Amino acid sequence: AKAAGRNQVKFFDPLMQASLSARAALETELREAITHRHFLLYYQPQVDASGLLIGAEALLRWEHPHKGLITPGRFIAEAESSGLIIAIGQWILRTACEQLVTWSQQPGYADLPLSVNVSARQFHHPDFVADVLHILKETGANPERLGLELTETLLAEDMDTLIEKMKALRTHGIRFSLDDFGTGYSSLSYLKRLPLDQLKIDQSFVQDLLDDPNDATIVKTILALGSSLDLEVIAEGVETAAQRDALLTFGCHCFQGYFFGHPGPAEKLPSTLDP
Ligand code: C2E
Ligand code: CA
Ligand code: CA
Ligand code: CA
Repeated sequence: AKAAGRNQVKFFDPLMQASLSARAALETELREAITHRHFLLYYQPQVDASGLLIGAEALLRWEHPHKGLITPGRFIAEAESSGLIIAIGQWILRTACEQLVTWSQQPGYADLPLSVNVSARQFHHPDFVADVLHILKETGANPERLGLELTETLLAEDMDTLIEKMKALRTHGIRFSLDDFGTGYSSLSYLKRLPLDQLKIDQSFVQDLLDDPNDATIVKTILALGSSLDLEVIAEGVETAAQRDALLTFGCHCFQGYFFGHPGPAEKLPSTLDP
């Protein structure tokens, strides 16, 4: 009775009501966006030490009929909590695979790897592996060109199932990156067990690399970790030549960030980059 009483109080809290109705409105709008296909994928270049294009990351955008282009920070959390991320995630994977097929026929892009962000709820869905394989088959995309970016939030759940799913997809050639690395709670023993290919240094460490010795130390540590575990390491959020140069002296050879290119439509992705 006491618990019910507390719920009553919460229910009539006007602030709570406002945020609940705002969330309900966002959910309704997201449902409409799914129905009317108001999403699109942007692509951001990833480059090596010589500025050569080595891959791209697909980044979701919502083309809102009245509010313009909306970035995922404003709706991905609601998409996850409402479960709509499952439908949106399927659209993302299909669109990314279609892009891989388009690139496979274009000189300069034929073997370009594409990374797709996968949210925890999406990955943990029992049909995730089957869905990915089905989409690959339907589109005819080469699984060896597809990478999936996972975050450390996934590690909160059953490790054995997580590893099993990763391995099932990896037998088809799909690669895995651990995104936002360094911001979560993954222990070193977890890291060793996960069948990963790449670590992505979180942009917060790159941002202050030149001013904050702690961040420089973290970046160096991640690079050492990557080399001892035989994982590729890519630095995210590289905005200046000075940041790139510092990263180079630390032994980092893969980069992504505004310095090399902003996310944009596929047609705007340069086939070679030499800043
Ligand atoms: P993320 O996966 O860490 O993606 C990198 C974010 O940093 C992107 O923001 C990108 O536009 C931005 N960025 C790239 N270079 C720079 C730079 O040099 N400086 C700065 N300050 N920012 C840079 P975006 O596109 O707004 O995406 C935000 C987050 O939303 C992503 O973070 C990812 O967690 C999520 N997200 C994006 N697309 C998808 C998707 O297709 N599916 C899922 N589940 N999540 C997505
Ligand atoms: Ca990412
Ligand atoms: Ca990231
Ligand atoms: Ca810092």
